[in-house]
Amino acid sequence: MKLIDLHVHTSVSDGSYSPSEIVTLAENTGLSAIAITDHDAISGYYEASEAAGKSIEVIPGIEFNTKFKTAVHILGYYIDPDNRPLKETIQSIIDDRDIRNEKVVSLMKADGINITYSEMKQRFGEIVGRPHFSEILIENGIVSSVDEAFKKYFNKDKKYWVPRTTLSIETCISLILGAGGIPVIAHPFEYNLEKVTLNDLISECIKYGVMGIECRHSSHTPGQMAYLENLADDYGLLKTGGSDFHGTIKPDIKLGSGKGSVSVPYAWLEKLKNEKERI
Ligand code: AMP
Ligand code: ZN
Ligand code: FE
Ligand code: FE
Repeated sequence: MKLIDLHVHTSVSDGSYSPSEIVTLAENTGLSAIAITDHDAISGYYEASEAAGKSIEVIPGIEFNTKFKTAVHILGYYIDPDNRPLKETIQSIIDDRDIRNEKVVSLMKADGINITYSEMKQRFGEIVGRPHFSEILIENGIVSSVDEAFKKYFNKDKKYWVPRTTLSIETCISLILGAGGIPVIAHPFEYNLEKVTLNDLISECIKYGVMGIECRHSSHTPGQMAYLENLADDYGLLKTGGSDFHGTIKPDIKLGSGKGSVSVPYAWLEKLKNEKERI
């Protein structure tokens, strides 16, 4: 069976491999298609599709942070990268990240960690996130893993926690639809919502035009994946899935298979493409 991975991060955001390296890895893993879904960025798609040639299909995607009671992520597939509102929103998210990140740098500096934000941008690129700050803490011998860095310093209300503004679900879904993309609710079980609240979230997203649910994901148990697949069918939504691969930042997650139980059939991508043709 042809397998795919529709949730992959590259070094354009907080993944550790470049888009070309991801393509090589995907080829070696035997995948037929991958979607590049960096946080707040689309540029990785160009490098990946150029590197891919005919061996593997590369789909343009993006992952945005939104809020519904808690942080909720929305994926967008087949968006037009030249769409003006999309580009403007991405720029304003980067500006907001810059303000947040400067504050994080100050907090770390007060503890004697000497790094400037311009050094970080030079090293990590335009999208700098908490995983990159975690790397700095590891290099300074303060923690020994990214996970430890989040638990001790970067999770909500920890010492170096600084919030950043997020899009509303409505704005995010409208933005993706406006850019000709297919909006999908990312990893619904990662938010630790009660099942009734999960249904509220899905209904809210449907109200604004969401078209799919990411059923298979590294953070979901096989039971949760089966539950979401039924739910997607009941709501008449597309089913998607992916590992949420980040490379060494999340070392237990493998491309294509996550922690071992993720497996996404190519047939799901065909349905996605059919929908794209219709909109
Ligand atoms: P930021 O974009 O700066 O708000 O950082 C959030 C990103 O950090 C998420 O999208 C994840 O990719 C990553 N992340 C969150 N929690 C962890 C964790 N415990 N370990 C590694 N990465 C994490
Ligand atoms: Zn990430
Ligand atoms: Fe996510
Ligand atoms: Fe992700």
